[in-house]
Amino acid sequence: MNNDIERILYSEEELNKRMNEMAQEITAEYENDTPIVVPVMTGAMMFSSEMLKRMNFKLNVDIVKASSYVGSKSTGNVKLVQDVKSDVKGRRVILMEDIIDTGRTLKFLKELFEKRGAKSVEICAMLDKPETRVVDLHGDYIGFEAPDEFLVGYGLDYNGFYRNLPYIGVLKRSVYAVS
Ligand code: 5GP
Ligand code: MG
Repeated sequence: MNNDIERILYSEEELNKRMNEMAQEITAEYENDTPIVVPVMTGAMMFSSEMLKRMNFKLNVDIVKASSYVGSKSTGNVKLVQDVKSDVKGRRVILMEDIIDTGRTLKFLKELFEKRGAKSVEICAMLDKPETRVVDLHGDYIGFEAPDEFLVGYGLDYNGFYRNLPYIGVLKRSVYAVS
């Protein structure tokens, strides 16, 4: 598995350090509130569980599952594969995502929760690729700005693999290039 990685972009140590900082910022904003944290499965699984451990105040967790990716290319249309169980009306919502790429997934989810009457919807993402954005969407808490390359690890997959890598790396082109 590790042999398929060209280089490591963010080590576990760097991720931990950055998550400590982000969690402090989020705590300052939400500690007197009871937000609903909504991890976007499956990619945000590792990042959100690490972040949640660092958020020491009352909150709910309710997942959604969205998909817009097949292989290593975005398909452009977002599907809600699994919805939240909670009523978000009047509640503050924090969407937690692995990476913002085109921005379509989070724009779709943000608007969905706003339509349902959420009091606020903020976005916390481990990575942001600002160069590849196609819709107007910004993250409120961002771990790192990432280059326009195909990344795996720390929840990010290629065809279901590599999610369990404890770091974020660039996948070797030879792994996904069709010759
Ligand atoms: P968006 O809707 O912003 O284009 O896409 C967001 C989703 O695309 C992410 O949740 C993630 O699943 C996927 N994605 C975007 N860039 C990458 C990447 O570099 N690597 C992987 N594995 N997934 C990505
Ligand atoms: Mg995703």
